[in-house]
Order: sequence, then structure tokens, then C-alpha cells
Amino acid sequence: MTIVGQHSFCKYYKKREYVYICITKNNMMKYKRILLKLSGEALMGDRQYGIDPKRLAEYADEIKDIHDKGVEIAIVIGGGNIFRGIAGASNGMDRVQGDYMGMLATVINGMALQGALEDKGMLTRLQTALKIEAIAEPYIKRRAVRHLEKGRIVIFGAGTGNPYFTTDTAAVLRGVEVHADVILKGTRVDGIYDADPEKNPNAVKFESITFDDVIKKGLNVMDSTAFTLSQENALPIVVFDMNKKGNLLKICNGENVGTVVKI
Ligand code: UDP
Repeated sequence: MTIVGQHSFCKYYKKREYVYICITKNNMMKYKRILLKLSGEALMGDRQYGIDPKRLAEYADEIKDIHDKGVEIAIVIGGGNIFRGIAGASNGMDRVQGDYMGMLATVINGMALQGALEDKGMLTRLQTALKIEAIAEPYIKRRAVRHLEKGRIVIFGAGTGNPYFTTDTAAVLRGVEVHADVILKGTRVDGIYDADPEKNPNAVKFESITFDDVIKKGLNVMDSTAFTLSQENALPIVVFDMNKKGNLLKICNGENVGTVVKI
């Protein structure tokens, strides 16, 4: 990319060349468009509550590595590090009120992540399912797709915009809507096991498992609404350890990391 000039053809050419580079890079990756789901708790790092800026910057680095390869990135972020509706309800709060508070928590996390990504030079858009126009675009599917095509990272905030749902369901819903190739669910564990690896040292990890087998074996990957939506739309889910450096890039490169759930 050496051509820099004011002439309109030069600009056009430069743009063409850039698009060409993106397409070439992107063709080398297994996944061209991903939906990354990050839980709110993941942002806490070693804290008990809130957002750890160091963890946020680490995640931004991981995301930059795949962005540089031309992968189109949509992100849904949870709010569990700040507020969960169900926790409010258990303390006597109205569930719907609590769920809206939880949705607003995801917007706070989305803004924090947006800032961290932009600090590393990536272009981003935050789109929210609840209208908060001073800080985010309202969610519009076609617009989101256009941003992705232009190489902007799109963060979807406020979940589905409805109480009684989770951000896992929002992740699958948005993933299906924008035609993502895969849902990448970043967690603290490195995949799906036949038993809880933190309690059972003999637990065996699956490299790959079908949606049907997850149900038959009673394994817990996502809540049932999210899981069924993914299954019905044949949208694979990769569960992986987001805290291990390089994992995100390896997955997008087609390496066996974590556990893939597919039809
Ligand atoms: N929430 C909601 N509807 C949605 C998504 C989220 O009501 O579509 C609320 C719900 O109260 C939830 C909270 O937002 O507990 C935070 O989301 P979630 O628990 O999924 O976050 P995570 O566990 O991923 O951090």
C-alpha cells in the first residue's frame, strides 16, 4: 500500500488494493465472519466486580490479531460482572426491572470494549437493542452487515432487548441474523467435558460433539433457548478458553481449540 495521493483514481486504487488485501487474507481463514460471545464476568479479570482495564486490553489484542487477518467480527457481551436480573429478583426486585438493568449493564461493557478496541486502532460500532441514541446506533441488521463488510467491529449491546432472555440467546440470534459462520463462546474453561473438570480430575474433554449428544448427555453449553436456536439454524458453537493467548486466532485459522458443537 504505497500509493497515497489526492487524485481520485489514486484513492480509488488504494481502496481497491485494500479490499483486495482483505479478501486475500480472509480467504485463508476458516471462518470469514464470527460472532464472539464474551461473558461480563470475563471482563472482571481477578476482580470481584466491574471491569479490569488490563483484561480488556488483552482481549482487544486478541481481537486485533483476527481483525488484521480480515475476519469480520461481531461481538455480544454479557453483563454478569455488573448486574443480573435473576439476582435482583432473588432479592425481591421485580424481575423485568432487573432484566432491563442487566441489559444496561451489557451496554456499559460494550462501551468499555469499544474504547479498548479503538485504542488499538480498530474501527467499531456499538448497536443496541434498546435505543440509547446518544451513545449507540439502534440495532439494524442491514446496517450491522454493512459495517462488518467494511471491516468495522460491531458490538451488539442490550442483549435481545427483552427481559427473560440471556446474552447467550442474543449472541445466537445476532449470529443467525448477520449470517455468522460460527458462534465463538469465550469462557474460562477450555472446552466441553463429560463432567465438571474443576470437580472431577478424570473428566474427558470433547474435541467435537453434536447438538443431539449435548442434549442426550445433559451437558450444559448454553441456556436451552440459545442452544435450540443455534441447533435449528445449524450454526456451530465453539466453546474455548478466551484467556489463553492466541486461541482466538488459532480457531479462526482452523486449528482444533476448545470444543466445537455442530449438527
Ligand atoms: N438480559 C435480558 N435480556 C437479554 C439479555 C440479557 O434481560 O436479551 C439481562 C438479564 O437480566 C441478564 C443480564 O441482562 O442476567 C446480563 O446478561 P447475562 O446474564 O447473559 O450476562 P453474562 O452471564 O454473559 O455476563
